[in-house]
Amino acid sequence: MIRRLRHHVRRTAMTDARALQDAAPRDAAPNDPEAPGGEAVRAPALRPSLLDPLFAPARTLPGIGPKMAPLIEKLLGTPEREARVVDLLFHLPQGGVARKLMGSVGEAPVGEPVTLGVTVVEHRPAQIGSGRRPHRVVVEDASGHDITLVFFGMPRPRVEKMLPLGAHRYITGRIDLWDGTRQMVHPSRIVDEAGLAELPAVEPVYGATEGLTSRAINKLAVAALDRLPVLPEWQDAAWLEKNRLPAFADALRAEHRPEEAPPKAEDPLQPPPATPSRKRLAYDELLASQLALALLRARQRRKAGRVNAGDGALSGRIEATLPFALTGAQARAVAEIRADLAAPRRMLRLLQGDVGSGKTAVALLALASAVEAGRQGALMAPTEILARQHFERLKPLAGSLRLRLMTGRDRAAERKSTLADLAAGEIDILVGTHALFQEAVTFRDLGLAVVDEQHRFGVHQRLALGAKGEAVDFLVMTATPIPRTLALTFFGDMDVSVLDEKPAGRQPIRTITLPTERIDEVVAGLARAIAGGERVYWICPLVEESEFIDLAAAAERFDDLQRHFGAAVGLIHGKMPGPEKDAAMARFAAGETKLLVSTTVVEVGVDVPEATIMVIEHAERFGLAQLHQLRGRVGRGSKASSCLLLYRGPLGQVSRARLEMMRSSEDGFRIAEADLKLRGEGEVLGTRQSGLAAFRLARIESDGALLEAARDDARMIVERDPGLKSPRGQALRGLLYLFEREAAIRLIGAG
Ligand code: ADP
Ligand code: MG
Repeated sequence: MIRRLRHHVRRTAMTDARALQDAAPRDAAPNDPEAPGGEAVRAPALRPSLLDPLFAPARTLPGIGPKMAPLIEKLLGTPEREARVVDLLFHLPQGGVARKLMGSVGEAPVGEPVTLGVTVVEHRPAQIGSGRRPHRVVVEDASGHDITLVFFGMPRPRVEKMLPLGAHRYITGRIDLWDGTRQMVHPSRIVDEAGLAELPAVEPVYGATEGLTSRAINKLAVAALDRLPVLPEWQDAAWLEKNRLPAFADALRAEHRPEEAPPKAEDPLQPPPATPSRKRLAYDELLASQLALALLRARQRRKAGRVNAGDGALSGRIEATLPFALTGAQARAVAEIRADLAAPRRMLRLLQGDVGSGKTAVALLALASAVEAGRQGALMAPTEILARQHFERLKPLAGSLRLRLMTGRDRAAERKSTLADLAAGEIDILVGTHALFQEAVTFRDLGLAVVDEQHRFGVHQRLALGAKGEAVDFLVMTATPIPRTLALTFFGDMDVSVLDEKPAGRQPIRTITLPTERIDEVVAGLARAIAGGERVYWICPLVEESEFIDLAAAAERFDDLQRHFGAAVGLIHGKMPGPEKDAAMARFAAGETKLLVSTTVVEVGVDVPEATIMVIEHAERFGLAQLHQLRGRVGRGSKASSCLLLYRGPLGQVSRARLEMMRSSEDGFRIAEADLKLRGEGEVLGTRQSGLAAFRLARIESDGALLEAARDDARMIVERDPGLKSPRGQALRGLLYLFEREAAIRLIGAG
């Protein structure tokens, strides 16, 4: 699991880097008046040779033989590139064990690593033919207390050579009690007086090791430290001093050659407090990423935007015909967006709103503003169901706006006419899926692109869509509330509007957790609810990563419930052909079916206000964000709703914490923060292809304050020195290379 996560994190970090790289040539069209020197921008950004030793293959380090090289490769290499020296340096230990030199055997604690000075008293070799009997060595401390060292399967001459009779040695290892006597099985180190002087005070412990010992990794990391060049400092000296942070190289040394054991976490669910060296490195990494985003942002803004909003007459008319009054938050967001659209620079805005907060209406009014200015608009959703739903729901509200739907499912003729109408300007707003990214889709004059459920679209997609029209304004909407820290990380180049208010008249959702054993009671309860006219979602367990197994479970539950409720039960799952999915959804929305059994396809955005009950089987297997999304499918109308979380015990610590969180809160932002703490950043944003940056040294879940400081710092740097030409700017280029954000340097040109 950890391995998978790590690989995932590594891959997404690379996707991000690639996205930025791709961005440069696409944005830097030769006739772009803002591109400094056209071709110059395309030139590869040359890494300063000073850094070359760090990007040399790790196998060039002393001490890596043919046996170790493939292991290092497995630990730190990727399909695209070999493990490099810098990868070893950035593979930080997760902890450390202080070497405690004990005065006597008696005071040494049992079960923890200790170091003892002892004299070898007696060898009791394994008898020939004695099976798995070990070789034992009795040693005693200065005051004559003895302890037995135990060696399994080690040749007698080797043991005797390590521990000659009568010799004085220092042994490190864990003491166990065996039949009431103290023993130490396979001491991790045995050294003499001279060896003791050379032992590190703390032994770093590395997390994932792929069959390598922590000590072997440490030896290589220490060798890698010797390759560290003297780099110009990119951090402000006064700032470093004020925060008591070490120099970059010193921080790396302190991590790999620690002199003190790092502090331990008090709460096992929380990471341990950060050491100054860890903080320094985390800050550097965060600054590199924020600086890259700030440069991207500056570049996007440098491009002259256009005025993409008119006098407000059209959007005002549409607002007046909405069947509801906007909430304060919606009105605020619309105003912010209109101000951006009206300004002659490019809008890059993130609209964050919990499920049910009414983002669709905001999007509609924004799109209407663009049309008012004579432009076209695009609204993109992550799935066909959602694109279709957006289309169906916008249509009655859209007044005179010419709306069209385009999905991957369109027949060729239909598609052809859509494309023709789009190019001729006979479509005002095109609603669709990823299909809108395709090369062949050409707008007459795209002014505003709205992307729904942004967390499925990475930097790469943002840029690809931007390339669809000159100075296209961008509004991206997330339904999953993103903790502020993550929003900064991934959308640091954007401005943010938040819908922090639910439409009036919503009732709180009652959330109940129940063991699966009580499923019969749940079914009986549903019978009453359905007889009373309510509508129910039933989400089936996510059994495994295989969709087929999920599907079997959903089909089985469907049969089960059909036996109780007959034709009132519908089924929808991810493997269904699109039209069947739509039909199943439509029957449920129209009330022809009252209970919809589903795999997690309903997760995102589906809106059936009449649904008031959500049952989630095996809720313990879902993540918090997912549970919150699912629960958000109910409580959308004015009737009271409930959410039943069925779980199978015994619950682990984390699942228990999750279900408890769900019971105690409906606040998406609070839940998202909790999710981040429970799961870590790697998974919170979900989808694998998200193309979002991940960090190697920083821990987003605990380094939030550092992140904000890095963001502010990065924006200030770009404001004062947009070309990174000052001495600090030059040093910061080194930082960008070091953390492989050099694509950002291409954005500012080679100079
Ligand atoms: P989101 O996409 O943010 O999850 P939707 O845009 O789907 O939310 O809106 C959820 C429901 O709330 C829809 O049925 C919508 O018509 C309704 N709604 C939106 N804004 C308001 C409002 N200001 N007052 C009442 N109902 C609203
Ligand atoms: Mg929505």
